[in-house]
This record gives sequence, C-alpha cells and structure tokens, in this order.
Amino acid sequence: MRFLLTNDDGIYSEGLKVLHDALLPMGEVWVFAPDRERSAVSHALTLDRPLRAEELRPRWCAVSGTPTDCVNLGAMHFMKGFPPDLVVSGINIGLNLGDDVTYSGTVSAAFEASILGLPGFAFSQEMGRGVDLAASAAACVRIVAFFAQRGLLRPGAIYNVNIPAGPFGRPLFARLGKRHYQESIVEKLDPRGRKYYWIGGEPIPGRPDKGTDFEALHRQRISITPLHLDLTEYPVLQDLRSLQGELEALFDARE
Ligand code: MN
Repeated sequence: MRFLLTNDDGIYSEGLKVLHDALLPMGEVWVFAPDRERSAVSHALTLDRPLRAEELRPRWCAVSGTPTDCVNLGAMHFMKGFPPDLVVSGINIGLNLGDDVTYSGTVSAAFEASILGLPGFAFSQEMGRGVDLAASAAACVRIVAFFAQRGLLRPGAIYNVNIPAGPFGRPLFARLGKRHYQESIVEKLDPRGRKYYWIGGEPIPGRPDKGTDFEALHRQRISITPLHLDLTEYPVLQDLRSLQGELEALFDARE
C-alpha cells in the first residue's frame, strides 16, 4: 500500500513518527506535515500566500501550511501519477471526539482526502497516565489492515479513531457523541488594565451517552467512527420542501 501521512501537531511530533514507523512494513509512506503545530485550524486552506515544501529527507516533507494544504500538495502534486491508497492523519496528541471533529486539523486532513476521492483515517490519542504511543501505533496499523482486507477503504470513506490513555481493550464502532463544557470563557485583565479572554473550560462530568465515542473511551476502548461530509439535514429538507410553494409565493408577491 502507498500512504500519505500527515498531522496537525507538526512534523516533529512523536505521534507522527511512531505512526510512520508502524505503517512502514505495510508499504510506502510519504509524509507531508505542517512545519509547526497547527492544531485546531480545522479545514483551513491557504490561499493568500505561497506555500513552501521542504524535503527534510526522502518522502519526508515539511509544509508551511495547514493539514489540508499538506494533503492537497502531497496527493495532487508530489504524488501525482501514483496517488496514495490511503491518507492517514495522526497520531494526534489529544482526543478528537464528538463535536470536536469540527475544530480538528487532524480530522480535517481526512475530510480533505474524502473531497479528493481518497479514503482517510484520523487517529487521536488521549493523553494522561500510561500512554504508550508505540502500542497505539500498532493498534492503528491493525485497524488499517482490518479495513483494507475487507475492502472498506472506498474512495472518500473517512474513519475517525480515538485511543484511550493507559491499557486499552478491543475497539468499538461508535457514533459521535456530545460533550458539554462548563463556563468556558475566562475574562482577565492585562497589566495595562485591558480585558483579555481565554476560550476553554473543563468538560462537565457525567455518564456519556450509549454507543458514542465518549462511551467507548470511558470504557477504555478504542472508538472507530465512520464520518461523511454531507452535512445536509435530510428530515428538515423534506419538511421544507412541503413549504416550497409558500416560499415561492412570497417572492412572487414582491415582484
Ligand atoms: Mn493536534
């Protein structure tokens, strides 16, 4: 197999290195990763300045852009004519569960793969006591092999995987859950008496909903969530279509 590997923690991240080393026995690994940490940049694409790609060593390229830039540059330019079979993003230092996938640069790299018609995997690691990145990377490779052997790496397929800190059990297929945060804006005064703000805040503790990625992690299990990019709310669209005539009539009346 041929892999395009990226992340949002930057090319010097330990999570990227362990995943690279673990994937290598499965095939060819091309690394295109941001030259610095770009966590929480979501699906940003750089359009207002030139991008540099510095080949630090063969198939190991630092890009002065976002994870989305990396996937584009790698798949559409440097790997033109021999595209990757799979785009792999991670291992991210920190979880990407539930709604957090919308902020995540790690997951967005997999979204970008999907847009380009490639399958994508995003891997994220819970930090804390007992983290063993090498063991996590070995688990990632087993999961990739499982999906590859069953023909599940279809064009555009996206899988979001989260790995608990400490010893983990067998993986669980899970849906995205919801996390609620406490008072999350901290307001302070700077030395000149002007206000400044920090966004953040502790999650509200509680039992995670059944079948969610949060619940899987709560049970010390790896979560695997299939994602897709069509954000259409179909039931609402269905309801709205029954109002199509009324909507048109409103506009007709104004003409
Ligand atoms: Mn990150």
